Amino acid sequence: MRYTTRALHAPYPKKDTHNSLRMPIYQNAAFDFDSAEELEEVFTGKKPGHAYSRASNPTIEELESKVKFITNATGVVATSSGMSAISNTFLALLKSGDNIITTNKLFGHTLSFFQTTLVDFGVEVRFIDITNENEIKNAIDEKTKIIFFETISNPELIIPDIKILSRISKDNNLILIADTTMTPFYLFDSKKHGVNIDLLSATKYISGGGTVIGGLIIDNGNFNWKTYPHLDKFYKLANQNAFIVKLKKQTFRNMGACLTAQSAYMLSLGLETLALRSDRTASNIINLANFLNTNPKIKSVNYPMLENNKFNHLAKEYFLFAGAVLTFDLKNKEEAYKFMNNLKLIRRSTNIQDNKSLIIAPYHTIYAEYTDEQKFSFGLREGTLRLSVGIEDIDDLIEDVTLALAKI
Ligand SMILES: *Cc1c(COP(=O)(O)O)cnc(C)c1O
Repeated sequence: MRYTTRALHAPYPKKDTHNSLRMPIYQNAAFDFDSAEELEEVFTGKKPGHAYSRASNPTIEELESKVKFITNATGVVATSSGMSAISNTFLALLKSGDNIITTNKLFGHTLSFFQTTLVDFGVEVRFIDITNENEIKNAIDEKTKIIFFETISNPELIIPDIKILSRISKDNNLILIADTTMTPFYLFDSKKHGVNIDLLSATKYISGGGTVIGGLIIDNGNFNWKTYPHLDKFYKLANQNAFIVKLKKQTFRNMGACLTAQSAYMLSLGLETLALRSDRTASNIINLANFLNTNPKIKSVNYPMLENNKFNHLAKEYFLFAGAVLTFDLKNKEEAYKFMNNLKLIRRSTNIQDNKSLIIAPYHTIYAEYTDEQKFSFGLREGTLRLSVGIEDIDDLIEDVTLALAKI
């Protein structure tokens, strides 16, 4: 089965009492039991079932099992946000004294989590150039546990060579963790490319319509948890499910990072149309990138599927297409704002991978609290615009952009 068929027909063994064709929204906190014995068995995990929705809930479980079926993963945990998928994973796997290797070209709040929260708990975060093989190798020592990267960085759109990261991780028995928000599983097969844990913000492409905040932790099952001392106790209990069971029985449960049933329902619905929406975006964005590229008022267009892009060969090697986000530079802030304010269709908003096309000037908003030098090092200029391309009709998008460019 291919993606959409899998998403529509993922088997779910537990039937709804009323034979609802779609898993209903179980909007309840607790569950009722016929006997004290049964309550004990479910509570202690001897019998499958749900006791309390912070730990598990039928609607959320259906979403998790669907993602597991689509991705061929060993286990999936749905979380309250992309950030909680990230924070729970690192808190479950690390202890004070450990270090991890990553880059500082990361989603802003992930960077903040690494620079402040993890550091406060005694974890050292080594920021290096993730596209430089030697820098990665030199940063590894006996306390290193994880290499973390984003498949495509935002807004710079840097793509690391994933086969190199996978080889280094394997050679040093490190866990390779990817944030695949920019290229979710329809666009990128993380398991095939050696990623051990796939994290993503479901808020973006999965929800599609920007309906909810949510996250996913996906264990691809290709890291041998027996060799990971911090999970000893859970390996004895659950073998290769050690990481997922630690989350469920400890970190995730204790942090209270649960998704709501309503949100799980929306995400489950979004999964079914992910491929349709993505295919439409893939064609829209390359058309728009080529169009912007030919306009003399635009200084440069950054999109990895463009032939002249530095990361074009890597984008083609790994992804169905390079996600819904491109950036381009106008001369200065004044021109960028004039352009934005003259758009009639494309919305001024901070989200990405929504059904609607969205635009923002990251230099003056998302990165406002950074110094000019830092912003420059992130590849941002005063006139840089980030455009997340939606599923509108392409002729309407091109018309909107053409008219707004004519005003500057
Ligand atoms: C949005 C985003 C996150 C955080 O996800 P939330 O659902 O907003 O918590 C993490 N990583 C990337 C790459 C993102 O774009």
